[in-house]
Amino acid sequence: MGGDLYALDFDGVLCDSCGESSASALKASRLPYSRLLQSVDSSMESWIIDQMHILRPVVETGYENLLLVRLLVELKAPSARKSSVADGLTVEAILENWMKLKPVIMEEWGEERDSLVDLFGRVRDEWMENDLSGWIGANRFYPGVADALRFASSQLYIVTTKQARFADALLRELAGITIPAERIYGLGTGPKVKVLQQLQAMPQHEGLSLHFVEDRVATLKNVIKEPALDGWNLYLGRWGYNTEREREEAESIPRIQLLDLSDFSKKLK
Ligand SMILES: [Mg+2]
Repeated sequence: MGGDLYALDFDGVLCDSCGESSASALKASRLPYSRLLQSVDSSMESWIIDQMHILRPVVETGYENLLLVRLLVELKAPSARKSSVADGLTVEAILENWMKLKPVIMEEWGEERDSLVDLFGRVRDEWMENDLSGWIGANRFYPGVADALRFASSQLYIVTTKQARFADALLRELAGITIPAERIYGLGTGPKVKVLQQLQAMPQHEGLSLHFVEDRVATLKNVIKEPALDGWNLYLGRWGYNTEREREEAESIPRIQLLDLSDFSKKLK
């Protein structure tokens, strides 16, 4: 036996979807927050999209984009505020404290994760249905990644918090690659730590070197906490959605190797 298995995160490792997810979140936010977003004109819309790029590292799952859009609107237009959560808040403070802030604002706004996930997925579906090329065009694969996937000699799996059907559509339409459905672990297949355990337990993977490439330090730290996953090589992609501070933190953790995009593409071959 021998050979390599790569478990790959999707957003921020293979695909830069920030433009798409921000635009989807703005569209979706207009449904539950229509009154709040009345004050959003095109210049404020582009300000929101710019801030969403800065805040992208805090997003673990797509629905959080909806919360961020509302928070940004409340930040920019105090008159639109229906709550006090945005009082004294800045974009920098959101970037630093999102994990603590998120449960507080969900409670304050009476939001539930599942309904936001549904709404976000529904708006994306509608966008795809009505304007597939526009939706696909709002995403891009990082330079060299499509070829690296196409010519990879390693076993590849996608492990993502994105809904699998969106990852599949982008791989096919934008990168020209079909990855079999059983190799795409999307939203709803359980935490990444559990997916990695499943992958390593499969008899056909016995003897393979295991590699996991991510752009979120927090996710890699969860893997490190699980002794059953001690055999995995862990990589943080520098090109993805992480901050300078997070990259510095990752550098101080011996288990994590920092990876440049060009090295990543070479590794898959
Ligand atoms: Mg990611």
